[in-house]
Amino acid sequence: MGTLAADEPFENTKRGRSLPALFSLARSATEGVGAVPKRLDGSPSAAAWSTLRSPMERDLYTPEHELFRTAFRQFLEREAKPKYAAWREQGSVDREAWRKAGAAGFLCPWVEEAYGGAGGDFLHSAVIIEEMAKSYDPGFAIALHSDVVVPYLHSFGTEEQKRRWLPGCVSGELVTAIAMTEPGTGSDLAAIATTAKKDGEHYVLNGSKTFISNGQLCDLCIVVAKTGDAEGDPHRSISLIVVEAGTPGFHKGKLLEKMGLPAQDTSELHFEDCRVPASNLLGESGAGFLMLMQKLQQERLVVALGSQAAAEQVLADTVRYAQERKAFGKPISKFQNTQFKLAECATEVEVGRAFVDRLTAEHAAGKYLVKECSMAKLWQTEMAQRVIDTCLQIFGGYGYMLEYPVTRAYMDARVQRIYAGTNEIMKIIIAKQMGL
Ligand SMILES: Cc1cc2nc3c(=O)[nH]c(=O)nc-3n(C[C@H](O)[C@H](O)[C@H](O)COP(=O)(O)OP(=O)(O)OC[C@H]3O[C@@H](n4cnc5c(N)ncnc54)[C@H](O)[C@@H]3O)c2cc1C
Repeated sequence: MGTLAADEPFENTKRGRSLPALFSLARSATEGVGAVPKRLDGSPSAAAWSTLRSPMERDLYTPEHELFRTAFRQFLEREAKPKYAAWREQGSVDREAWRKAGAAGFLCPWVEEAYGGAGGDFLHSAVIIEEMAKSYDPGFAIALHSDVVVPYLHSFGTEEQKRRWLPGCVSGELVTAIAMTEPGTGSDLAAIATTAKKDGEHYVLNGSKTFISNGQLCDLCIVVAKTGDAEGDPHRSISLIVVEAGTPGFHKGKLLEKMGLPAQDTSELHFEDCRVPASNLLGESGAGFLMLMQKLQQERLVVALGSQAAAEQVLADTVRYAQERKAFGKPISKFQNTQFKLAECATEVEVGRAFVDRLTAEHAAGKYLVKECSMAKLWQTEMAQRVIDTCLQIFGGYGYMLEYPVTRAYMDARVQRIYAGTNEIMKIIIAKQMGL
C-alpha cells in the first residue's frame, strides 16, 4: 500500500494506494480548499453554487467521496488548471499530467488493488467527472479513459490481459482510446468498413477511423473491426481488438481542429496491414457489438454527469456576474428579465440534478438502465446547452470573448449532443425501450 507524504501530496505516490490514504491526505491538507480561484471577471466562482443550493441536499455521496473530491480539487488547482491555456494552445494534454493524475490515484479509481487501483467505485469516477466540468476543463479526457475505455479491458479482458494492461492504465503510463467511428459511418456502427482478418496467430487490420479522442496520445486503442464471423449478420461480425501504439501499420493521422474541447486530442487513425497478435482480441470474436451495447450506458451517463456539472458551474458564475455587473445604475440581476432567466436556469439545473443523481446511484448499484441512461444523455446535454446559452447572453459582449470561461463552456457543450451516440440516436433507443 502506498503512502502519501503530507508535504508532497500528489506526487511520487505508488500504485495500489488505498482510498483511505487519499482521504486522510485531504483531511490534513484542507487549508486552501476554500481559497476560491478568481475568474477573469474577478468573481470568486467556485463557491457560488454552494451558497445558492436549495434545501434539497444531495445524498449520493458518502463523506469519503467528498474527501476524495477535496483531494481531486486540490490536484486540479495544482497540476491541471495552471496548464489549461497551454493545453488549449497545443491541442492536447501533456503526458506528464496523465502520469501525475495516475500517481495521485485519480485514474480508474474503481479498479481493484490487485491491478494497481484504489478499489473505489463508480461514484469516485462521478466525483472526478463533476469536478473536471466545474473547472472548465478544456478536454483532459480522464473520464473517457477511466470510465469509457478501461471498463472494456476490465470486463472483457482475460486475466493475462488485465495483468498486462490495467496497472499501466491506473498509473497513467498507458493512455487509452476507443476507435469506432469511421469517415463513412458513425451512428450506424454495423456499417463499419475496417477489417481484421485472421492470419495464423495474428489479426491483420485495414481501415481508417476518425474523431478518435486521445488519438494522438493513446498507447492502447480498442479498435472496432469486422472479423466476418457471421456472414450476412453485421451485428455478429464485429470484434474488439486492442492495438498497441508502435505496432507497424498503426498510423496516427491528423490532429483535428474543433470548435470546442481544444485540449482533447481528437484524431484520425489509420491501419495498414497492421498485424496484431491474436491474443489482443478482447472477449469473443464476433461479440463486439454486444460488448459495446453493454458498455455504452456508462458512457452516456458520463456525458450526462459532465453536462449537469457544467450547467451548474456556469449558472453559479453567471449569478455572481449578474450581481456585480451594473447597467442603468443598478446590478443587472435587478432586472426582471435577468431574474426570470436565471430562475428558469436554476429550475432546470435542480430538476436535472435530482434525475441524474438518482440514476447515478442506481447505476453504481449495478442496475442496467438503457432507457434512463439514454434519457439522461439526451436531456442533460440539451439542458446544459440551453442554460449555458442563456447565461452567455447575460454576460453580454464578454460572453463572446474567448478569455471568458462561459464562452468556452458554450463551445465545449455543443459536442455533448453529438458524441457518445447522437441525441437523435438516444431518442431512437428510448422509443424502442417504450415498445414503439
Ligand atoms: C469531439 C469528438 C470526439 C469524438 N470521440 C470519439 C471517440 O473517441 N471514438 C469514436 O469512435 N468516435 C468518437 N467521436 C465520433 C462520434 O461518436 C460520432 O461523430 C457520432 O456518433 C455521430 O456519427 P457521425 O459523425 O458519423 O454522424 P452520422 O452518423 O453520419 O449522423 C449524421 C446525422 O444524422 C443523424 N442520424 C443518423 N442516423 C439516424 C437515424 N437512424 N435517425 C435519425 N437521425 C439519424 C444523426 O443524429 C446526425 O444528426 C467523436 C466525435 C467528436 C465530434
